[in-house]
Amino acid sequence: MTGYNFDFLISALVFLFLLLFHSMNQKKLQNINGKIFNYFIALGILDILFDMLSTIMMASASACHTEITKITLTIFYMMQALVPYAFMCYIYSLRSYHGEELKNKFKLWFIPTLIILLFIFSNLWSGLLFYFDPSGIYHEGAWYLFMYIYVFVYVLLAALDSIIHFKEIGWKKFFVLWEFFVIACVCVGIQAYNHQRLLTGFGLCLGITVLFLTLNNPYAYTDRLTDTFDNTFFEQWIQEKLYEKKAFHLLSVDVYQLKRVNKVFGTSVGDQLLIQVAHGLQEISNSIHIFRITGNRFILMTYSLEEYEKCRNGILKLFEKTFQVNGEEISFPAIICGIRNGQKLQESDVLLAYIEYLVSIAPESETSLLIQGDEKNLQGFRYEQEIERYLNTAIEEDLFEVYYQPVFSLETGKYITLEALSRLRHPSFGPVSPEVFIGIAEKSGQIARIGYLQFRRVCRFIKEHEEIMSQIKNIKFNLSPLELLSHGYSQMLIDVIREFELSFDYFQFEITETVATEYNENLYQAVTGFLDVGIGLCLDDFGSGYANLNTVLKLPFSSIKLDRSLLSGILDNPQIASFYENIVSILQNMGYNIIAEGVETEQEMKMLAQWGVDLIQGYYYSPPVPEKEICQVIE
Ligand code: C2E
Ligand code: CA
Ligand code: CA
Repeated sequence: MTGYNFDFLISALVFLFLLLFHSMNQKKLQNINGKIFNYFIALGILDILFDMLSTIMMASASACHTEITKITLTIFYMMQALVPYAFMCYIYSLRSYHGEELKNKFKLWFIPTLIILLFIFSNLWSGLLFYFDPSGIYHEGAWYLFMYIYVFVYVLLAALDSIIHFKEIGWKKFFVLWEFFVIACVCVGIQAYNHQRLLTGFGLCLGITVLFLTLNNPYAYTDRLTDTFDNTFFEQWIQEKLYEKKAFHLLSVDVYQLKRVNKVFGTSVGDQLLIQVAHGLQEISNSIHIFRITGNRFILMTYSLEEYEKCRNGILKLFEKTFQVNGEEISFPAIICGIRNGQKLQESDVLLAYIEYLVSIAPESETSLLIQGDEKNLQGFRYEQEIERYLNTAIEEDLFEVYYQPVFSLETGKYITLEALSRLRHPSFGPVSPEVFIGIAEKSGQIARIGYLQFRRVCRFIKEHEEIMSQIKNIKFNLSPLELLSHGYSQMLIDVIREFELSFDYFQFEITETVATEYNENLYQAVTGFLDVGIGLCLDDFGSGYANLNTVLKLPFSSIKLDRSLLSGILDNPQIASFYENIVSILQNMGYNIIAEGVETEQEMKMLAQWGVDLIQGYYYSPPVPEKEICQVIE
């Protein structure tokens, strides 16, 4: 027995036990790859254990326990046959295979492994691999090289497989696998050269350690702050569940005031609140999985409807009260979205987009609220998805239209400016409200391309009817925040005007109050770029939100459009009327041209006229009309 260095095997065993313990204990949540990894470690442990036992027994050879030695060695050989198989399964599970597909692969590879296992077992009688003579001495059988060849072929196939599919598994995993091969081969090589250096098991242990550190570290998938699972893990997990077609139910929790809390109380308070929320969620039930998929969004997942109801009620209760940080009471409300049978959405991207949609339709609120993913909401979501898809076609084929709404001047009794408004028709849904498609395009990033196409259309229209510009002072064109803030976009618009050889003062860009509020460098550059060439600016939707007057007034607008919402109530509420009147007089005193938006009745028009408003836009005079009709309307 002397000469064998068992220390390596013993330390390998200790190591693998530790890894297995940590790998299995991680919140009992494992995907297929994680489960196979655990089996792999367990097999590694058995393999090393029997390697050690059989070596010890053989070294202390004696006729009396030959049978036991023989059986121990046979089991060791069987482990040697199973380890490569488990590794092959592990490699497969690293790829994008799921569920059934993966199980079929496992079955396929098990057939040769099973034959080998039977062959090893039959060695107890055949002695082809090894045998013991009557005095208990070990001898190599005629086929003793077979096991080496078998393992070699397996490793070769696994290595080839990783090369063939390296795109699928990605560089990172590819390199890790090769690290494994190299470590294992070096250790096997050393042991083959010097039988007394028992390094094969140790090599296996090193390889597994590398996998643990890089690909299968269960702690890598947890969110450090809240100790919940992170979004990478959510992606993997949800893919698996969707593939398995198993029913699951989700609850998403958006703590939407996190940004504000961070701003007001500091990020450490925000962190504390997140931790409290995560703990609170964890306490609702032991059998749910909690993920933190964005800074302020948690997702809870359950498999039973009872559990789902329990969680929903638990969450509502959690957010009923205020939270306490450093003795301070802080209200930290959440938008809670419930989705039953999430598997029906079929794709993880769709599922996440649906959550996004549900959050987006939540009414503005200062308290927590619950939104259920019911049939109606699902339809709304599918509608938006279809519009988003259709927008691509519409952009490719330039299927948009521009309608023009004239603005009437009471003083001159003429239309003196136009607003260009986009229109889109869906082949089966009919006209789509610009509010809807512009909103979707803003979220999906398609808005800049739409804006560009539409602006060209407006320029083309002016080029063809330049005579109207003697009556019409300018055409107002809406710009979305994203367009304005994207670098180089304003220059692109200026270039279009140059291309059509039009005068810059034919144009005025409308910027909404909310954009003007978010004063930033890009916005300022865009705006000054327009002013430099002589394009006017109009502040749109004034009074519709919570504009920061200070920042708004820093921007050089020449006109201000008072939002339609300010009109509601002016006819029967003297206070509202006086409010409107005063705004008009303040802004006029500051030198702005005022346009009243959304005037629908004669009474409204008369009231505005009394208050000195000159420019009026609204259905009372004209709705937005198609390009070919606008020339008639303004005559
Ligand atoms: P907006 O810029 O405030 O445009 C005025 C909206 O009020 C238009 O809605 C117009 O049809 C509507 N309107 C005009 N007079 C009346 C009235 O008397 N009563 C009522 N109830 N409504 C009136 P529309 O065309 O549906 O556009 C909605 C919004 O979509 C626009 O609001 C604008 O923010 C956006 N939008 C439209 N076209 C474009 C575009 O080409 N680019 C960008 N970025 N946004 C656009
Ligand atoms: Ca507008
Ligand atoms: Ca407006």
